[in-house]
Amino acid sequence: MSDDVNPFESLQEQVDDAAKYVDVGEDTLERLKNPERVLEANLTVELDDGSLSVFRAYRSQFNGDRGPYKGGIRYHPGVSRDEVKALSGWMVYKCAVVDIPYGGGKGGIVIDPIDYSESELERITRSFATELRPFIGQDKDIPAPDVNTGQREMNWIKDTYETLEGTTEPGVITGKAIDSGGSRGRVEATGRSTMLTAREAFDYLGMDMTGATVAVQGYGNAGSVAAKLLESELGASVVAVSDSSGAIYDPAGLDTHAVKEYKNETGSVTGYEDASEELTNEELLTMDVDLLVPAALENAIDAELAREVGADVIVEAANGPLTPDADDVLTERDVYVFPDILANAGGVTVSYFEWVQNRQRFYWTEERVNEELERHIVEAFEGLIDAYEEHDLPNFRTAAYVVAIQRVLNAYDESGTWP
Ligand code: NAD
Repeated sequence: MSDDVNPFESLQEQVDDAAKYVDVGEDTLERLKNPERVLEANLTVELDDGSLSVFRAYRSQFNGDRGPYKGGIRYHPGVSRDEVKALSGWMVYKCAVVDIPYGGGKGGIVIDPIDYSESELERITRSFATELRPFIGQDKDIPAPDVNTGQREMNWIKDTYETLEGTTEPGVITGKAIDSGGSRGRVEATGRSTMLTAREAFDYLGMDMTGATVAVQGYGNAGSVAAKLLESELGASVVAVSDSSGAIYDPAGLDTHAVKEYKNETGSVTGYEDASEELTNEELLTMDVDLLVPAALENAIDAELAREVGADVIVEAANGPLTPDADDVLTERDVYVFPDILANAGGVTVSYFEWVQNRQRFYWTEERVNEELERHIVEAFEGLIDAYEEHDLPNFRTAAYVVAIQRVLNAYDESGTWP
């Protein structure tokens, strides 16, 4: 894991790499590499003991050429201005690669939520929603969950917004609970698109998924669902999983469902009795497996670790889990990497379905959600392969960016110049 790599610089490097294959001038390229605006707020909130605390919060609106800004809100001590800028840029290209009508945004609060009570978190969230209110809306900017936020926080933000605006507008935010206007299939969507990307990737590479060995780093929402679906729908054998407490390993395959229940009860995967061994996260990332799914945070694999990676294929459930140097090493070593902006796009794609349902006030079955999601991911995968083959590109990440940048550029060019 590398803490030295600035994720915003990684994003800019990824855009530069792909821009070599797209007809774009230097001036327009600058636009594709920088956010349109970043809101920085200091939230002053009363804690349960009556004292006041100030929390730094951000919202970056990177690019709105293809539609309203869209992207999650993260609660983590590592949130920074540059991290939020990077994540908002990745959202632009993610929405473009799966061809949904959004731009990209991202927000976060510098906080470790574990240190605060539920009522404190509610006040902190409502304070952030109050700051965000003038800038968000179903046609302006639509936040969603990310690391350490979920339905509860989305419901609070929706309620704050609607109360202040004196309206009902569930489409202002996605990732809500079902009874508050959420979509069926949303909770599983990111893990599902990771599974679908892995399925298509193995098929394209002529590899068999049945019995394939899988290691998953990060057993949260994205990672645990991906593991469960790889096992239950594709017959893969998930031999190792991890979280911030460490990793567990069983060469015969772990029961992904039981591990999740164990983590829900105890808060971590380590200590799970039916695993044969405990490993470090580094050992998990370098295991000799068919498929590695990084599903934790950015920069999990740097160039040094990339030289030790034993997997044949990596499908990125997390955003930005590889540094650009790691990418170069893996390309050189013929390890196939299927990028985050496709693999984890299920979350934002089903968020889009949620927004469509909110606007129509007509709600879909889970079956319909999953079918539409599969169609979007498979079509996006095919588009990426077409670009990869047509331009003879060095890797699949560059292919994804070539497709996405071209779509953003088209929207920008078609809009003309103002003023
Ligand atoms: P989450 O909080 O549910 O899970 C994150 C997991 O990673 C936790 O189990 C945590 O213990 C683990 N973790 C943290 N640091 C770790 C480390 N150093 N080593 C191993 N494990 C570690 O978060 P999530 O929603 O699953 O998000 C995970 C990643 O997926 C993030 O990069 C996020 O941006 C991305 N993502 C999530 C969604 C979504 O819909 N949830 C959508 C798109 C992208």
